[in-house]
This record gives sequence, C-alpha cells and structure tokens, in this order.
Amino acid sequence: MTPIKRAGIGMLLAVLLTVVAGCGQKASRKERAEDFSNRTIRVVATTSMIADLVKNIGGERVAVEGLMGPGVDPHLYKASAGDVSRMAEADLLFYNGLHLEGKMGEIFEQMARRGIPTFAVADGIPRSKYRESALFTGNYDPHLWFDVKLWADAARYVADVLVTQDASHAGSYRDRAERYLAALDTLDAYVRAQAARLPRERRVLITSHDAFGYFGRAYDFEVKGLQGISTATEAGAADVQALAEFVATRRIPAMFIESSVSPRGIEAVREAVRARGFEVKIGGTLFGDALGDPDTPEGTYLGMVRHNIDTIVDALLDHDAS
Ligand SMILES: [Zn+2]
Repeated sequence: MTPIKRAGIGMLLAVLLTVVAGCGQKASRKERAEDFSNRTIRVVATTSMIADLVKNIGGERVAVEGLMGPGVDPHLYKASAGDVSRMAEADLLFYNGLHLEGKMGEIFEQMARRGIPTFAVADGIPRSKYRESALFTGNYDPHLWFDVKLWADAARYVADVLVTQDASHAGSYRDRAERYLAALDTLDAYVRAQAARLPRERRVLITSHDAFGYFGRAYDFEVKGLQGISTATEAGAADVQALAEFVATRRIPAMFIESSVSPRGIEAVREAVRARGFEVKIGGTLFGDALGDPDTPEGTYLGMVRHNIDTIVDALLDHDAS
C-alpha cells in the first residue's frame, strides 16, 4: 500500500471515530446538562494556569482540581494512578495541548474515548497565532499563556465550553468571562507599560528554557532559552558556551531562572560568562510553566504575569545604577 493510500484510510478511520464519538457524546451531553443544573461541575485541569482560568470563568459553578502544583514541569510530568482516577471521575477535562503535556497525550485520548469531554485550550486560539518551533516544522510552541492577549482567547474558549456544557447557567459564565477579560486587558496594558521602561537594547530575556517566545513576540523582547521549547532535551556543553558567548558579547546584565526548571543550567552559563571576563547577575526567579504557591500573589495568573514583568524590568534596569 502506498503511504498516500494508508494516510487516506487513517483519515477515514479518524473521521468515523469522530462521528461515532460525536453521536455518543450528544446523548450524554444532554443528560449531563440536566445533571449540572443541580450540582457543581467537577473539572480537572493539567497546569495551574489552566486551573486558575477555569476557576475564574466557572466561579462557584465549578470545583476545579489542578494536577500540576507549583514548581511542576509539565513537559516531564507523568500522570499518577490517582491522577488517572481523578480524570476518569471528572465531568470535564482541560489541558493545554500543542504537546505541552508531553507524556500525557495518550491519557487525554483515552479519557475522550471514555466519553469525558476533553478540551485543549490551544484549540481556542487561532492557529495563525501559534509560533512554529524552530527545531521541528509542524510543531508549535505550547507556551501560549505568556501573551496575555492569547490567554484572553483561551478565556473566551473556556467560557464557550462551559456555556455549551451547562447552558442553564450561561449568563453567569458570560458575566464572569467579561469581567475576567477586562482584568486581562488591564494586565496586558500593564506589561506593555512596564516593558516600555526598558530601552530597546535592554529588552533581552535569557531564561532556562524557551518558554518566553510568545512573551517576546507580544512585548518586543529578544528571547533566548538555554534549553529548547521542551525541557525533555537537556542542554549540552556547546549550548552553554554559545549562550555564554552571546551574553558576554552583548553585555547582558541579567539572566533568569525558572520556578519549574533546575537552576543548574543558568548557573553553568553564568560561570562560562565569568570565564570570558564578564559578570552577569541572576535577575531572579520567573514563573515559567507553573504558577506560584496558591496563597501568594503569584498563585494566580494575573499575579504571576505581574511578578514576571516586574522582576524582568527591575533586573534589566537596575544595572544602570550599579
Ligand atoms: Zn516549557
């Protein structure tokens, strides 16, 4: 069989499966909608950013459980047996998609096959806004939340899902979404105003891994990560030397570690920069792929984005004074 024929059959199968799954879901969606009118909806979300988003849009209508806590790296995260049963008992499942949860793809498919409505927030963001990975064509950068405007698309998507699944409370979801979108607008303006305090040549952001590509594109920063867009590939000695050369040549004042990645890589770069006769400081810790502790300001998306831009601007400006 030619590869084209094989692909054709694969596609046909996929379409058939979708049709079958769609029929099954239609009937059960009606039942669930009736069911939801009298009780809260159990939602399981993978990352803390998504759990926070669903809480903000769902309010008291939803009981959200996030699988990945502070400091947890979603690229490497493997679902525990407890996670799998939590997902199996959920009414709705939200994940990021674009392979952020690199080790969980099969579980999401399984859950969807079991009839659990499963949603990737990436599907709520127009494909034309995805950043293509420099390393693999057809692969996209999954770190969508660092462009606040894209996260607003994700918020609209979550609202649409909740409205569809629980139509009797549509008004409440729409109201909450409107308020949250206004907060995201204010946040986006804040990030822009903070970034504008840095002269263009100081807008260089160096972090542990390539999580900040969308941030750089949205807020006009040159971004370099020691590791690629997934932490699954470790940086080699050549990567450390290349980044050190860049930092020393450009005289970059600060680099940043990330809450969900070991600081060792960035510390190795710092040593290699020192060997070139230049001192670069560690500008602080940024929240990359996870929010901070729940009872701190960085435990929400709004607080996390503020923390990151404040930390970045303070460290890159501070050098003027020293
Ligand atoms: Zn990442």
